[in-house]
Amino acid sequence: MARLFPRFPPAGSERDQPSVRNSVSLPIALADGRMVVGRMHSFDGLSDEGEHFALELAPRTLSGAVPLVRVHSECVTGDVLGSLRCDCGAQMREALQRIHDDGGFILYLRQEGRGIGLYRKLDAYRLQEQGLDTFSANRALGRGDDERRFNVAAEMLSALGVPRIRLLSNNPAKKLQLIDCGIAVDTMELTGVHVSRHNRSYLEAKVLHTQHQIALDSELPEKQVP
Ligand SMILES: [Zn+2]
Repeated sequence: MARLFPRFPPAGSERDQPSVRNSVSLPIALADGRMVVGRMHSFDGLSDEGEHFALELAPRTLSGAVPLVRVHSECVTGDVLGSLRCDCGAQMREALQRIHDDGGFILYLRQEGRGIGLYRKLDAYRLQEQGLDTFSANRALGRGDDERRFNVAAEMLSALGVPRIRLLSNNPAKKLQLIDCGIAVDTMELTGVHVSRHNRSYLEAKVLHTQHQIALDSELPEKQVP
């Protein structure tokens, strides 16, 4: 597949700057039944040495367009198992379709459980079953509300040659961190609201604690409710 977006900076780059390690084609079945082919990139030189990856989707996008980018943090329960305790899986499925339609990237960051890891996330789930909300549970475990860092996403964009993006997110903190790391964020395009009876309290906590831009009024029809 031809490169879809121009690289930057093409000259004068330091050898120890983050770089694309490998790129492979990946056929993908979208949730709406379409079969598409993405390009999956791995990296060398990322600052935290994590196995983060990018998925490039954009067969119909004109070269040079500002790509739509989703910065998605790993959620094994939501992304892999389809857990309804959070909206991660629904957001991933939406992002795959929207980015395929618009052209762009999913940057998948291996920072499970808002940065505390899978086992501690499950410890936090246990506390939530005892009445704490998602943020209070993290604090009860001696961890921060949100330990994710998005600077590595900026490093991946730099390695991919993408200095300017449209960000697919409801989270203003992501936009600010990317801008701080030198990425130009033209627009922040909101994701859909994937509320169900299982995740409503989780989404309410996100709005309360992190200023996520999620319309959660009680009149909202529940989407994707099993
Ligand atoms: Zn999740």
